[in-house]
Amino acid sequence: MTFSFETVGRISSPYKEKFAIPRQPSLAPSVRSQVVLDKRFSLNSVQGLHEFSHIWLSFIFHQHLDTPMKEMIRPPRLGGNKKVGVFASRSTFRPNPLGLSVVELLDIKQAKGQVIIDVAGADLLDGTPIVDIKPYIAYVDAVKEADSGFASEAPKSVEVSFSEEVAQTLKKAKDGAYISTVIREVLSQDPRPAYQREEGREYGVKLFDYNVQWVVSNSGFLVTSVC
Ligand code: SAM
Repeated sequence: MTFSFETVGRISSPYKEKFAIPRQPSLAPSVRSQVVLDKRFSLNSVQGLHEFSHIWLSFIFHQHLDTPMKEMIRPPRLGGNKKVGVFASRSTFRPNPLGLSVVELLDIKQAKGQVIIDVAGADLLDGTPIVDIKPYIAYVDAVKEADSGFASEAPKSVEVSFSEEVAQTLKKAKDGAYISTVIREVLSQDPRPAYQREEGREYGVKLFDYNVQWVVSNSGFLVTSVC
């Protein structure tokens, strides 16, 4: 069966490319994003939502639309070599490119005729189309006795440090403290693909309007440039 529906808005987030976006929400809890609803929605559509501390975002993996679905995938947390069925994963390569993330609700406001919902901890690429928003209801959504199979813990995090030059740059930057917290939280998730972990290699990612470069040091990651 085929359905067509209209997305309800888009998210703007600091993640300007897919690389280095944490694999699940709340792994970089300080990251702030904004869901901007289409103009057809007024504040009525979110009346009462502020009573909930967290909300579900369902969205489209829009950067993958031309990638065919794979029935079996290699989850990064299994080291990239063990395969599981796509329905046993949160892979982005799905029969329908639908993502689902629970995020912290920070604020709801209106600007230029559009409802803006500030959230924290989203794992969505900048510009991701939003399909639906629902309140997170802890007594049903948080299943205390649930067993999460091969994804039962958060991935191990890596120590992140900043070169003296980068520390100075961020000290002088507007929102520098927030930006360095986000860089630290995001890189600590070790975004490197499982097959690419050689020491000394340099990596780069676009976060906010910065190009963040880092190298693998013996104690973790050293951020060498933010420009
Ligand atoms: N929490 C969601 C879920 O469970 O459906 C997403 C999990 S998926 C493993 C998270 C990854 O989706 C991120 O690391 C990022 O690489 C990718 N991603 C985020 N937004 C995307 C988009 N708009 N298009 C394609 N991939 C996206």
